[in-house]
Amino acid sequence: MKTNIKNVALEELGDRVVQWGYPRFHARQIFSWLYQKNALEFMDMSNIPSSLRSKLIDNYHCSETKVAEIFESSDGTKKLLLALYENERIEAALISAEKRITGCLSSQVGCRFSCAFCASGSKGFTRNLSSGQILDEVVYLKRCAPKRLLTHVVFMGMGEPFDNYENVLKAVRIINADYGFHIGARRITISTCGIPEGIRRLARENLQVELSVSLHAVDDATRSKLMPVNRKYPLNELFAAIGEYVKTTNRQVTFEYVVVDGINNGLNDATKLQTLLKGLNCKVNLIPYNPVEASRLKAPSLGNIKEFKGFLERRGITVTVRKSRGQDIDAACGQLRMRYEN
Ligand code: SF4
Repeated sequence: MKTNIKNVALEELGDRVVQWGYPRFHARQIFSWLYQKNALEFMDMSNIPSSLRSKLIDNYHCSETKVAEIFESSDGTKKLLLALYENERIEAALISAEKRITGCLSSQVGCRFSCAFCASGSKGFTRNLSSGQILDEVVYLKRCAPKRLLTHVVFMGMGEPFDNYENVLKAVRIINADYGFHIGARRITISTCGIPEGIRRLARENLQVELSVSLHAVDDATRSKLMPVNRKYPLNELFAAIGEYVKTTNRQVTFEYVVVDGINNGLNDATKLQTLLKGLNCKVNLIPYNPVEASRLKAPSLGNIKEFKGFLERRGITVTVRKSRGQDIDAACGQLRMRYEN
């Protein structure tokens, strides 16, 4: 059975090429076509002998996904709805802001964590993406990007990256490698809903990637309502793992905090947040809630966001506010796929 060539490591492809009677250097050339020239067909690989291209066609898929639709927001955000062979849909987004061109990737079809503010979780989990399918997303995003260039990659699309740890890390290594997409590790962010084993495992990888943790509430009762994962891994367990991560890696952690009106946006919440983060090398990214169809949660006012931010900053915490991008094209994670399936 044919497999996605992007699931294959460079060494393994080199062995295969040699086994077929060709010099090993062709494996690097093939990788260059896949990850630097963003090829979608083996026939386009013009410096590969045609007999070797035929072998590749017989044994591998060059890409396992197809673009079903591209949506472009008035703010320039592009959202790609990608169709897998199994006729499932995943989403990937391209967000341009100043000098950054960020690709936002999905790691699973659906998600089993059911966060209240997220469309991806509302339809449940279907399956993990392979590393090759994750890398397909990067190829398509690059093909849509200005000058076919991505400066940053974030795992913030559909799915929980640490619930598909092996495939995500395999993809990260190729995104980072000089024979892959060659995007610096510090420009790759893995965002988790808070899986302590995943955080501890990442700490041991000796990779310079960024870790972002979706916090969204500062007490267990509220967090469990917004993020059911908190029932399994309450705040004390989560923060024990984050503390170990910071100690082992000496790296800063970003906390994502979706501000929802009437739920977690009071100054009492900001006070508890400050206490929770005391002494930790971290920053906070406030995200004004972007309403999704299936949810009754409400967006906060601009004044509220300013007040929350100011409160934390005056207490020495670095705070950014993420602009909501692509609202007119359902760019919040899982919204497009949900619309497609409705
Ligand atoms: S926010 Fe992330 S972890 Fe939570 S349901 Fe959505 S995709 Fe899953």
